Amino acid sequence: MRILVTGGAGFIGSNLCARLAKNQDDQIICLDNLQTGSMQNISGLLDLPNFEFIQHDIVEPIDLTADQIYNAACPASPPAYQADPVHTLKTNVIGILNMLELARKNNATFLQFSTSEVYGDAQVHPQPEEYWGNVNPDGIRSCYDEGKRAAEALCFDYHRMYGTKVKVIRIFNTYGPGMNPQDGRVISNFVNQALRGEDITVYGDGKQTRSFCYVDDLIEGIVRMMHTPEDILGPVNLGNPGEFTMLELAQQVLKKVPNGSKLIYRPLPKDDPKQRKPDITKAEILLHWKPEIALSEGLDKVIDYYRNIQQKNA
Ligand code: UDP
Repeated sequence: MRILVTGGAGFIGSNLCARLAKNQDDQIICLDNLQTGSMQNISGLLDLPNFEFIQHDIVEPIDLTADQIYNAACPASPPAYQADPVHTLKTNVIGILNMLELARKNNATFLQFSTSEVYGDAQVHPQPEEYWGNVNPDGIRSCYDEGKRAAEALCFDYHRMYGTKVKVIRIFNTYGPGMNPQDGRVISNFVNQALRGEDITVYGDGKQTRSFCYVDDLIEGIVRMMHTPEDILGPVNLGNPGEFTMLELAQQVLKKVPNGSKLIYRPLPKDDPKQRKPDITKAEILLHWKPEIALSEGLDKVIDYYRNIQQKNA
């Protein structure tokens, strides 16, 4: 089996490559433009005989053979995808078109990494797949939210028009090793701030909620989705339904890393969703999947991971 992973040097992509490369019968081709991904994330894989890295931006066409395509390419943290919003949209329209064409030509199965952001500032809680969302089409998050919505539409249109084998998962907030400490997301920010004894930056009043999934749990769900029968297209939510306010998260981090950090409050970014929690009934039924790693346990692992990075850089 030849398996293409776009965005394979990114946070989730590199964890997926590591998992897939364990099967020595499979050949893993990792594509990444290194905009937010890093060679460090895949350094342990480069010497494997069944792993190949190609530096490439999916916005440009590429000719490859593959039996399965995991399309994870796209910056995912708000500061990263907002840094070049036009390129973010290109990735989610032109980039995915290039990859869907590859899937069509190769008769490959195509799995799209979609996102809970398609629900926007959700007015239904928790969010089931049937909810169409509440998304600002003109705001600073639109390049990602609307881009990912267009990407989903393209997947289903390729399926309807050409019979392309597609599958769509919607990923809720995920954390774990491989997430860049400077990524700008809440867990990487809070943990790294606490480890340095710096103030913890809470945006807004900190009462907004998120549900955090440890990356190993997510990868298990993603691989299960790829192996579902052809008529299972999704979308399927993947995430951990444990819901926390950002203040609760900050308290947990402070308790685990007692370095004298204090909370400081910063303005809430525009269009920041107030509540987010996945309804994972579909994943439970179709994939026999549910997350196993609770936030407290996952935080311990990620604290160790960032502590090691800080010590190496010291
Ligand atoms: N957030 C925060 N402090 C930070 C970074 C983020 O309070 O240093 C908040 C952010 O406003 C949002 C939540 O944490 O409400 C999750 O943000 P993140 O960027 O991790 O992901 P999002 O779910 O917004 O894409």
